[in-house]
Amino acid sequence: MMKQYQTIKQELPDTILFYRLGDFYEMFGPDAELASRELNITLTGRDAGLKERIPMCGVPCHAAESYVAKLIQKGFKVAICEQVEDPKEAKGIVRREVVRIITPGTALDNLSLTVPASNYLASITGNEAGLGLAVCETSTGDFWVSQFTGTDQLKTLKDELTRLKPAEVLVPAGAAFNPVHLFANQEKPLLTYYDPKAFAYHLAHKTLREHFPPDSLRTFAGSDYAPAVCAAGAILQYLTETQKAPPRQIKELKYVSLQNYMTLDATTFRNLEITRTIRFHDKKGSLLDIIDKTKTSLGSRLLQRWLERPLLDLKVLEERLSAVEALSQDWAKRQAIRSALAEVYDLERLLTRILYGRANPKELLSFRQSLSVLPQLKNILHSFAGSHLLNTLLKSFDTLEDVYALLEKALEENPPYNLKEGGVIKSGYNPTIDQLREVSTNGKEWIARLETEEKEKTGIKSLKVGFNKVFGYYFEVTKANLASVPGYFQRKQTLANGERYITEELKNLENQVLGAEERLLALEEECYHNLLKEIGNSAGRIQNTAEILAHIDALQSLAEVAVQNGYGRPLLLEKEKNHLEFEELRHPVVEKVLKDTLYIPNNLHMPEAVNLYIITGPNMGGKSTYCRSVALAVILGQIGSFVPAKKAVFSLRDRVFARVGASDDLSSGQSTFMVEMNEVANILSHATRHSLVILDEVGRGTSTYDGLSMAWAVSEHLVQKVAAKTLFATHYHELTQLANMEPSVHNLSVAVRERGEEIIFLHQIMPGAADKSYGIQVGRLAGLPDSVIQRAKQILKLLEHDNFNRQILEQENTLSQDDPLPQPELSPMEREVLDTLVKTNVLNLTPLEALNYLYQLQQKL
Ligand code: ADP
Repeated sequence: MMKQYQTIKQELPDTILFYRLGDFYEMFGPDAELASRELNITLTGRDAGLKERIPMCGVPCHAAESYVAKLIQKGFKVAICEQVEDPKEAKGIVRREVVRIITPGTALDNLSLTVPASNYLASITGNEAGLGLAVCETSTGDFWVSQFTGTDQLKTLKDELTRLKPAEVLVPAGAAFNPVHLFANQEKPLLTYYDPKAFAYHLAHKTLREHFPPDSLRTFAGSDYAPAVCAAGAILQYLTETQKAPPRQIKELKYVSLQNYMTLDATTFRNLEITRTIRFHDKKGSLLDIIDKTKTSLGSRLLQRWLERPLLDLKVLEERLSAVEALSQDWAKRQAIRSALAEVYDLERLLTRILYGRANPKELLSFRQSLSVLPQLKNILHSFAGSHLLNTLLKSFDTLEDVYALLEKALEENPPYNLKEGGVIKSGYNPTIDQLREVSTNGKEWIARLETEEKEKTGIKSLKVGFNKVFGYYFEVTKANLASVPGYFQRKQTLANGERYITEELKNLENQVLGAEERLLALEEECYHNLLKEIGNSAGRIQNTAEILAHIDALQSLAEVAVQNGYGRPLLLEKEKNHLEFEELRHPVVEKVLKDTLYIPNNLHMPEAVNLYIITGPNMGGKSTYCRSVALAVILGQIGSFVPAKKAVFSLRDRVFARVGASDDLSSGQSTFMVEMNEVANILSHATRHSLVILDEVGRGTSTYDGLSMAWAVSEHLVQKVAAKTLFATHYHELTQLANMEPSVHNLSVAVRERGEEIIFLHQIMPGAADKSYGIQVGRLAGLPDSVIQRAKQILKLLEHDNFNRQILEQENTLSQDDPLPQPELSPMEREVLDTLVKTNVLNLTPLEALNYLYQLQQKL
């Protein structure tokens, strides 16, 4: 057995092998050590023909799913190796085979996919022409490819991977590029180095041709799409290999050109916390979290996809906005839609499990329940036929009544979780099942009834039915009654005091009764799998309906959020108009987080002629929040959502950049300042006059003058060369001078009120530059010790002195609070002037002499 184990294990070096032994899956060797650690299960040992015992641990089969799920969530792969012949019939060791390999990117069950969010498997490859990326949501069948070319191809790929955050990425083993650098530290997926042959063009193309109808691949003809085809082919092959069956849930291969969407690079996407927060890498607290009021996993996934790729198409956006508006205006109908959607389970994932024959009866029941609300949902939708988008959805809404009717007829009302328990198929669906069921419950009664009948017919009062393993059921007749035995009784056995007989009818009944239970289970199982197959035949239709449901759900969610949070419909303008205007704009997340304080809305007026706002004011004043609120409003508007503002009128933005604070990218081994400069370089080279750029505290990672000079030069470049709409929050007050030199640059500041030494943040954005930075007051607010605050004040005074020499600060930095202020160091000329002044008796001078004297002194300086 260990030999068989080793042979199987050899093929799967990076996978934990669950090896079936009776009612357990056992793991051996390093697999056992790892699994016992990760799953917290006891490690034992087993003799394996060597001197030392081999480490071993195991999990019971009935509970395996949850153990597998735990390992998958931790980023491991698990291979399930089953006994594939009946142990009773096996000669020698039972034959075993790996029936499926579960990996983070190919998981299909609810336990591994604990959240409704998409769980992507990606595949990357490249040639001279560019990089190909294929992405698949294995559990739903969503599948698409993209291609990246040009000098920025790696960066664009990295940006896309950051947005998608795949669970697993396939790369050709031995690939020229190192995929590790494509991911930020905390967001590394499982990297699977896969057979490079699977990525080879001819094989990949063949794999695609075998899977998809020829027509659907027309886009990919010719070598232009070679990298995409190679990546896609490898995914299909990997899926077939791990699932041990072709991925029938994948019906279509789409091509996604990122040029059709607003660009949100990795840094911006992370900084703006669009689908997950920076700190916890989690949806909670992100923009998605706030706007996700979907009722189904389908809708939730779609909404996330919308946020990952805001649109550039005014017409499509207007259609979405109109749909949201219509839904937001009818409270009652919207609630009706929401309650209907609440009945809909994850149809896409359920369908995939159905297609693989792995949906259990309870899941099938959920599937049926989901279908039951469709006609009603469609009905409500009729009221919104005025919206073009909702009307289009309505028209192609297939309510799948035939599939529902089939399930209604075939599936029990309350089937067990486990198919093997039986009681899954409804009575009336399959006559043989009905018969078997009746036999298994009534069979014994029938035999007893036959006994009575035969007693009457033959007149043998002592006639008895008996049972043994050799003959099965029989009639026993005592010697005294043998003469009354009729001709149709066939003798089977002679006993000391009587004979045993069978009759045709008795044998018929016996055939039915014996093993009825077993046959019933087998037939129910067969019937159930046929049912799954039959539903699977409508997979395409079901996927279409799921997509329509996802759209309805995402749109109603946007409507619900708009109403609940008081968002308004934005007026979107052509990008060329270059106009951004918001009245009473709020930050969608911060306004929710603030509990005791009220969020103070702010305005932004950025017509064609204004390109850059320099925003100054104290830390904690709300500069960052303000800048982000603008970026988020633009992104919301460009997914077709209402925005948290009383009035929002803005030209579509092709890209949004947000360079915010110091985000250490330790994985790339770069310093904070280097990272910051990289990001700024990226903005300068990619921003266009139709972009929105948010710069928050750029230039901080170096000396003041260095930083200021960089900030200044960057601002000038953005204004003069790029003309992107830019909001620049900064501590460099000197930067506010730029407004005097460039007509398209203006200053804004956050308002504060001073009360003695205290300041109160008003969180209000005002025209004009801030006059102070209030750093010390903020320090006091933050609870710094008083001695530090006092010392800071001293130093501030020194720094504000024109002739202050830095060295003094260094020499005097041990000064205590009570020491006198250090004297500024004077130049020889200044000292000479001072000396002459001290020596002069001013009272002896006439006014004219005094004036001349002053003039001479001044000339010396
Ligand atoms: P800055 O960038 O000027 O240092 P932030 O934008 O980080 O300041 O804001 C600091 C805190 O002030 C936020 O965490 C939030 O709690 C609060 N805040 C910001 N803007 C507002 C606002 N408009 N209304 C109410 N509170 C706000």
